[in-house]
Amino acid sequence: MSEVASTATPTDRGPESSVAGAPPEGRPAGQGSRTAGDSRSNGGEPAALPIEARGLVKRYGEITAVDHVDLTVEPGDVYGFLGPNGAGKTTTLRMLLGLISPSEGSVRLFGRDPIAEGIHALEGVAGFVEEPRFYPYLSAQRNLELLAAYDGGGATGRIDEALETVTLTARRHHRVGGYSHGMKQRLGIAAALIRRPKLLLLDEPATGLDPAGMRDMRALVRRLADEGMTVLLSSHLLTEVEELCNRVAIVRSGAVIHEGRLEDLLEAADGDYRLETTDDEGALRLARAHRGIADALTEPGALGLRAERAAVAELTLELAAHGIGLHTLTPRRAGLEELFLRLTESAPATGPRPEA
Ligand code: ATP
Repeated sequence: MSEVASTATPTDRGPESSVAGAPPEGRPAGQGSRTAGDSRSNGGEPAALPIEARGLVKRYGEITAVDHVDLTVEPGDVYGFLGPNGAGKTTTLRMLLGLISPSEGSVRLFGRDPIAEGIHALEGVAGFVEEPRFYPYLSAQRNLELLAAYDGGGATGRIDEALETVTLTARRHHRVGGYSHGMKQRLGIAAALIRRPKLLLLDEPATGLDPAGMRDMRALVRRLADEGMTVLLSSHLLTEVEELCNRVAIVRSGAVIHEGRLEDLLEAADGDYRLETTDDEGALRLARAHRGIADALTEPGALGLRAERAAVAELTLELAAHGIGLHTLTPRRAGLEELFLRLTESAPATGPRPEA
């Protein structure tokens, strides 16, 4: 089955795990069975969260690829799992999808354990790790038909809609071997969609795409989220996360160094200012000597500051005292990129840690 078109990369749990979220044989998803993704509550109990990971650890010999990661993904989240290369994103996603077992910790998808319950826990969940795989010599249509037959539960009847959603209808009868990278990524999402997931996990879905392909991929994820799908996507593309996600976890060296609402993270960066003066060189000298101003640099036609609010007010008075006039003083929010670099480039060094 590992050669069969799949929505996840097979790994150390055996070939049956290569299809993320395939329903158990004889109990196809979507045929009246209560799925793991049901948001109905039981006797008034709150519905289980799409993802709850607690204390996830994955060790490979001396390497700790994932180091006590906690993740909480709520219904309707577009959750960005963001980190530099080698930070442990794919390894975490593999554990979430039950493709590999954690060394420690637990995962619950809609309250079910993908390790203990295997594919039973993945009803209502779909996605792929690294890149989706298909039979290259078969058409997209045929590949999806094979997957749908495996999935059961009316998946075949959703092929047209899924292809339409990912704008591959016109190419449906062409061999997948001739598809561009972006088309294969979109077909991977179509393969996930025929399962009608409530939770979609995507591993760097836009990586390797050209700008138009990235834009299309973002628009697609946005559309799915607007329709109410919960999405977790890993990425090292900050613009992608900034555009799409409401919540983020930033990982470094296998550990989460920030988790929360994107809005809060961006607000934490308040303290950046752009200053246009009559004498930027002079203003720079004064700013650098001023307490409470962490960073001051020249920018084209302006001065960039990272400073405490009070220190900025003091600086304006000092500038005036030195005969330097202010044209503009604009507070600005640091982009996620700047924050990401600040968070991920501060010590300790990136890269998985050898075990103590
Ligand atoms: P990228 O953005 O480059 O895909 P990532 O954040 O997805 O990186 P992972 O692929 O999860 O990172 O890898 C985290 C670390 O774990 C890396 O150092 C990697 O070499 C190591 N690792 C992952 N899988 C294995 C494995 N099967 N055996 C040994 N080491 C592994």
